[in-house]
Amino acid sequence: MVLDVLIIGSGPAGCTAAIYAARANLKVLVVAGFEAGGQLMITSDVENFPGFEHAITGPSLMEQMRKQAMRFGAEFRDEDATAVDFTVRPFKVTSSSGTHEARAVIVATGSTAKWLGLPSETRLRGHGVSACATCDGFFFKEKEVVVIGGGDSAMEEALFLTKYATKVTIIHRRDSFKASKIMAARAQSHPKIAIRWDTTVEELLGETTVTGVRLKNLKTGKVETLACQGYFSAIGHTPNTGLFKGSLHLDEMGYIMQEGAYDTYTSVEGVFVAGDVYDHRYKQAITAAGSGCKAAIDAERWLETQGSH
Ligand code: NDP
Repeated sequence: MVLDVLIIGSGPAGCTAAIYAARANLKVLVVAGFEAGGQLMITSDVENFPGFEHAITGPSLMEQMRKQAMRFGAEFRDEDATAVDFTVRPFKVTSSSGTHEARAVIVATGSTAKWLGLPSETRLRGHGVSACATCDGFFFKEKEVVVIGGGDSAMEEALFLTKYATKVTIIHRRDSFKASKIMAARAQSHPKIAIRWDTTVEELLGETTVTGVRLKNLKTGKVETLACQGYFSAIGHTPNTGLFKGSLHLDEMGYIMQEGAYDTYTSVEGVFVAGDVYDHRYKQAITAAGSGCKAAIDAERWLETQGSH
């Protein structure tokens, strides 16, 4: 059976695309990913998604979006896409349950967390090292932790960790935050949060679990050790586009490039894009959802021109 629309990814972009495409009576399969739901699955309270007067948790929001898409007939499979062939029509997308054929594809694979790249960071991952406060914060009750970064993610992680940790130190390489003013102000005024400006992590300390970090002040050159039991990397994200190298045009940072008549068109006609995998500016759940809507509408209209709807 040839699908009308195959959606790769199941964050706000993929789920919204699925809602719109399924409601347009198209046959829709979502290859949702082994870690379905995208980045909101590792987010605590979402306060800025319209429609929820009070905060909703990221996982609850994603569960509702997915169920909403399923109500209109979209099928979800919690498998990773492992290969794509966009040189043939119908397009082919392979996952563990087989190779699926689709007249149109929407790529909504999002982005994932970056690491500093220190060997000790890799060695101690899961033993005090994390990139997800929501997932792992609970393990740091009554402990001291550090958060690396100066963007909104770092502020959000640090604020979340104050629920558990006795002290949270934000380590930032410059002397001002990149984060939005409101998030930075919340972090800076929090009694449990300390900030080390102009500072980098040279090494994580500890044999089997994190016991501290070796810090270097970039202005004074001073090196010192800070004791901590948790280390959270919050320095940004990398787009999940490895699967599309050679199939779709990517920009110098690896994000999928928009090409063609409309916002969600890619370098291959009939393959559309939505969410953080091509948006490195806004990166919000609501903007991802909005672009998922656009991608589904673009796919539907394009399919009509192909005489296959
Ligand atoms: P950003 O790219 O905004 O910030 C990354 C931070 O990490 C920067 O402060 C950067 O330093 C620092 N950094 C990057 N690489 C290194 C490195 N190798 N060593 C040390 N520090 C490093 O990423 P975020 O994930 O914070 O945010 C991405 C987007 O998502 C933003 O648009 C943000 O607004 C949004 N967002 C919104 C949230 C919300 O509204 N609730 C929550 C989370 C994210 P420098 O400042 O020097 O460049």
